[in-house]
Amino acid sequence: MATRSVSQEAKDIHLATRMIHLGARLQVLQAETSLSYERLARLYREVRQESPPKGMLPFSVDWFTTWLPNIHATIFYSIYQYMSLCTSLPKGEALVESYRLYLEQASAGRLEGAGDEPVLSFTRAWVLVRFFESEMMQMAQCASCQGNFVAHAQALTNGFVCGICKPPPRAGKTQASRVIRKKKKRARSGQNDHVQ
Ligand SMILES: [Zn+2]
Repeated sequence: MATRSVSQEAKDIHLATRMIHLGARLQVLQAETSLSYERLARLYREVRQESPPKGMLPFSVDWFTTWLPNIHATIFYSIYQYMSLCTSLPKGEALVESYRLYLEQASAGRLEGAGDEPVLSFTRAWVLVRFFESEMMQMAQCASCQGNFVAHAQALTNGFVCGICKPPPRAGKTQASRVIRKKKKRARSGQNDHVQ
C-alpha cells in the first residue's frame, strides 16, 4: 500500500468518480480500483450526497436472457467488445465509455424501456462483462437476422432466433403504452357521452 504511486491513486479516484456518476455500486468500484473501501465510501457520499446502497449485487444470469434486458445487454456488450478489440483502453475506462455510448443509443433510438432509469444499470453491465470473462455467457447468432446476441454459454445456439425477430406476444405492452391506451379508451367513451 505504501508504495502505491500518487498518480495511480489520482487515476483511480477519477475512474471511480465517473463510475459513481453512472450509478456503480461500491462492490464494482472495489473490484476496478485499488482504493480502500473507506475511501470509496467517502468518495461515493461526496459525489452522490447519499450513502452507498447496501446489499447483494444482481447476480442472475437468466435476467440477461429475458426479452427486453437481452436487447439492452446485447447493445451494451457489442459496444464493449468493439472497444476492447479496437482501442487500448484499460478495462475500467472501456466499461465507462461503452456504458455512456449504450445510454446514448438507448435514448437516441427511443428504445423501449429508455425512461429515467436505463433498463441495463451500470452495475448490471459490469456483472455481464464478468459473466463473459468467466465463460458463463456467450454471443449467439440469430438464424433470422444474423445479428449476435447475448446468450447462456450452455445454450444450444443452433436455430436460435433473437427477441427482435421473434418478440414475445406481450412485447411492447409497457406501463407507458398501457397508460396511453387507457387515456384513448377514456377519450372514446367521453366522445360517446356527447353523442348520446
Ligand atoms: Zn434476429
